[in-house]
Amino acid sequence: MHVTSLVSVVLISLQVIILCLAADFVGGLFHWAEDTIGDVDTPLWGPLFVRPNNDHHENPSAINRVHWLLSNRDILIVTGTLMAFFWLAGLMTWQILVFFLLMGFNQQAHRFEHCATVRLPVPARLLQRVGLLQNARHHWQHHRPPHRNAYCVLTPWLNPVLDRWGFWRRLERLLAPAFRMPRRPDIVSRQ
Ligand SMILES: [Zn+2]
Ligand SMILES: [Zn+2]
Repeated sequence: MHVTSLVSVVLISLQVIILCLAADFVGGLFHWAEDTIGDVDTPLWGPLFVRPNNDHHENPSAINRVHWLLSNRDILIVTGTLMAFFWLAGLMTWQILVFFLLMGFNQQAHRFEHCATVRLPVPARLLQRVGLLQNARHHWQHHRPPHRNAYCVLTPWLNPVLDRWGFWRRLERLLAPAFRMPRRPDIVSRQ
């Protein structure tokens, strides 16, 4: 392979890895917000996000009893709308397209993590096995109460770094005065 082509392949691969990490991080950030900010009585936010998230913590396997389209609907609407905006504004690039496709895949990856390995589609099973997609054992770290770590669900790469660094606790300390959060009593009692 010509040297310039090799450099292009390396650069594109690096960008795809960064886009995976970015999509995983944004998904994790939203999940953290659902778990942390407001409560079930917060207007709009509570019924739309906090309650379904609490229900998922209490009954994790129910996620796969919901039709995949219904389960993925919200994230697909959001990512589809944002992609349409970038396209109509003439700002669409392959990086933005890949980012939103990966973002839109967050919930499906999460569903795969609650699926028995034997029932996983072969591509998902292979991607989990080679460590490109997060697997059930990794995600289960989040399902152990008090659900305070492993917020990212797409890849197995980010959670160890963010959790070891205490990223989510640092973010809570930083934003607590503005959002009067987190709602979890263990943190509230320390403020
Ligand atoms: Zn959670
Ligand atoms: Zn889950």
